[in-house]
Amino acid sequence: MTKIPHIYLIYTGGTIGMVKDFETGALKAFNFDKLLKHVPELNHLNCTIDTFSFDVPIDSSDMDIEEWVFIAELIERNYEKYDGFVILHGSDTMAYTSSAFSFMFKNLAKPIIFTGSQLPIGDLRTDAKENLITSIEIAAKQNKDGKPLINEVCLYFEYKLYRANRTVKMNAEHFQAFSSPNCLPLAESGVHLKFKRQLLEKTSTEKKLEVRKRFDNNIAVLKLFPGITKQVVESVLNIEGLKGVVLETFGSGNATSKQWFLDLLQDAVNKEIKIINVTQCAGGSVIMGKYNASVHLDKMGVISGFDITSESALVKLMYMLGMKVPNNEFKSIFESPLRGELTILE
Ligand code: ASP
Repeated sequence: MTKIPHIYLIYTGGTIGMVKDFETGALKAFNFDKLLKHVPELNHLNCTIDTFSFDVPIDSSDMDIEEWVFIAELIERNYEKYDGFVILHGSDTMAYTSSAFSFMFKNLAKPIIFTGSQLPIGDLRTDAKENLITSIEIAAKQNKDGKPLINEVCLYFEYKLYRANRTVKMNAEHFQAFSSPNCLPLAESGVHLKFKRQLLEKTSTEKKLEVRKRFDNNIAVLKLFPGITKQVVESVLNIEGLKGVVLETFGSGNATSKQWFLDLLQDAVNKEIKIINVTQCAGGSVIMGKYNASVHLDKMGVISGFDITSESALVKLMYMLGMKVPNNEFKSIFESPLRGELTILE
């Protein structure tokens, strides 16, 4: 007989944890220790839930590497005790945090599901209850052999389960706040909760979990725009201690072919600063060499992000720099999917 799944629910802050004081109209933090009392529907799920709440819940704009490591260590310490983990997080930076978790947890054999909401849990028209209840249901889902169905870091929002490192927050007010432009949802919730099993990551449970907590944030994001000046590019590429740049280019990875720009990039590459080419487009892939406007980048050793999101590229860059991946291997490792975060175009 399979045992009832045991879920660890971590509340970090964000809109989801607010309740409205109907007398004053003000939003106040929700006491998650009283979760079952406030959301009695959770009693109908076939699992047991323990909760942990940040002493001072934070807006996700304040989420930093320090908080990522704190939450990761919480999961690491409790990894054997629980069958699945649900993290309640503000939606603004959830795509970054959840991408970071996908890289931090190597050989993950249990689900880590991020969720949040656009309206507080105490609001009459809230989306929080559905997001919370279904996230817990997904985290508790087991195969017939009693092992968890999900072995990766996911983000659940408004009826869809996404691979976390493929998501972007694309709307500040719609309930459907997230999209995953280059990867189909892993599950959809309607009358039935339907999983696309062929898309799920499969982890060998024989391999030991490794939690990698070092990120190097000596990086920058440089978004190209028509009219960008030499001074701007030069200032960014000459930041002291800079080790990597996410270069947001046009279309399928194109950039101006002005000589000053190419010279500055070449200098940076020569100084072993990693330049990652990601597209500003909402979907699709970088294909370096497709147009003349990207041939030079390809030749000088700029790294292709293929169809990775800018959020995921930024976190992967900090992660790989933190792991001290040697210069001669950096490009080939970055251009390979580590946790399903990109698709290589042959
Ligand atoms: N500002 C909030 C946050 O990201 C928004 C939300 O929770 O959706 O923490």
